Amino acid sequence: MIYYKTPEEIELMRISNLLVSKTLAHVGSIIKPGVSGADIDREAETFIRDHGAEPAFKNYEGFPATLCVSVNEAVVHGIPSKEQVFQEGDIVSVDCGVLLNGYYGDSAYTFALGEVDEQVMELLRVTKEAVYLGIEQACVGNRLRDIGYAVQSFAERQHKYGVVRDLVGHGIGKKLHEEPEVPNFGQRGRGIKIQEGLVIAIEPMINLGSKSVRQLKDGWTIVSKDRSPSAHYEQVVAVKKEGPDRLSDFSVIEEVERKNAALSEVVRSSMSGVS
Ligand code: MG
Ligand code: MG
Repeated sequence: MIYYKTPEEIELMRISNLLVSKTLAHVGSIIKPGVSGADIDREAETFIRDHGAEPAFKNYEGFPATLCVSVNEAVVHGIPSKEQVFQEGDIVSVDCGVLLNGYYGDSAYTFALGEVDEQVMELLRVTKEAVYLGIEQACVGNRLRDIGYAVQSFAERQHKYGVVRDLVGHGIGKKLHEEPEVPNFGQRGRGIKIQEGLVIAIEPMINLGSKSVRQLKDGWTIVSKDRSPSAHYEQVVAVKKEGPDRLSDFSVIEEVERKNAALSEVVRSSMSGVS
């Protein structure tokens, strides 16, 4: 059963989802080569609790951490650890959920650490763009599969990437995962009619190589079968009469990324000045 949200509930969900965006921005301000998954997980948990919320993933179906931290060929559900030390050139997908005022927030962002291969940077740009193309379709009168169609045709037909089939987006509200499932593939004009009050997480997982994935022996981490790099971005959107209303906000994360880039540029130029 799908729970359509009232405007009041949507405003509460905006607060939950903005906290997730801010948590991811906080992660963005500390993540760099030499930092570990355990480091960013601890920071995120403290940040969430300091804002009066609960980490939503911790103990969810037994998941042991606040964040899912998935590096390079890991698609999603990576378990942060001390041993998971980030390297220059890594891409790190960070997925975060919170529970605040009875409503869940859920968002993911893939960070590029230092100098990343240009082919991989393009994968990140395309995956992020795919989220927005999906969101554009979240309009009254459209069908649910129009979202997946938009994501798939952009990422697969246009860019020849592999769109993961085994994991999908979802409704969200008083539960982290509600109906309906929101696949990142599909045919236009199929699925339920999109109605006002629908709140869903749109979260394409896109591989540089084939779409096939497998699970590691830890029982959680999903990796691309061919070990190609994989990107994951996720935003929550509410359907309003006027159109899609994004409850997540990547701009706070992007601002931190710009600051990091400017800072490393300063470091680079000062080092070249020394030599
Ligand atoms: Mg999700
Ligand atoms: Mg998520």
